[in-house]
Amino acid sequence: MEALTKKQGLPVVLSGPSGCGKGTIVSHLLSRYADRFALSVSATTRAPRVGEQDGVHYHFTDRASFEQAISEDRILEYTEYCGNYYGTPKSELDEKTARGYHVILEIEVEGARNVRRLCPEAVLIYVLPPDAKTLEARLRGRGTNSEEDILRRLETAKREILSLEEYDYVIVNEDNGAAVAAEEIVSIMQAEALRVTRNRIAVESFFAP
Ligand code: 5GP
Repeated sequence: MEALTKKQGLPVVLSGPSGCGKGTIVSHLLSRYADRFALSVSATTRAPRVGEQDGVHYHFTDRASFEQAISEDRILEYTEYCGNYYGTPKSELDEKTARGYHVILEIEVEGARNVRRLCPEAVLIYVLPPDAKTLEARLRGRGTNSEEDILRRLETAKREILSLEEYDYVIVNEDNGAAVAAEEIVSIMQAEALRVTRNRIAVESFFAP
């Protein structure tokens, strides 16, 4: 019997190619639905982009500290992406789901696969840009990545999109569509939280004397 109650939040994996607009979707969710959603802030060894803050967008760290966290079993899952480590600290997920929040993990495909294995209750959502041209334009428009990095990210995106079938849901993030995409995620999570398998305790208490 699952021990989950309605109070327990769920891990929500959000993947999609770099430039698909995940960040903007997450900002919408966190500003409008701060009572229901929280973000898992990943650790990374990549350098901060302009405007990124330590502890808010990522926990920025160096390779030695990241490797120490792995060896001390403080990282739930991690990957090396375009030459840098990225990982989910266990504390981020455990504390926030226990407080009832759906915790968003903005991670790539390999990480999603690992979360599926380690946390079978997780809901996996893939964010697709409308098409490859739009994706390239968004990556270039960001202006914060080198040409080499952009090309590497486009290649990775094409490979990643082939893994779409491993996800539970797909949403297309149109230009200026982040608010709509955020609402779609809210709907998905409302339905997921009402699954019978997640509400056995409610059924049991119905029959309780
Ligand atoms: P970016 O450099 O654009 O911030 O992130 C690069 C990729 O790393 C994105 O696909 C992002 O979702 C992924 N990523 C960020 N944090 C994590 C993490 O903690 N674990 C994994 N597996 N991937 C992550």
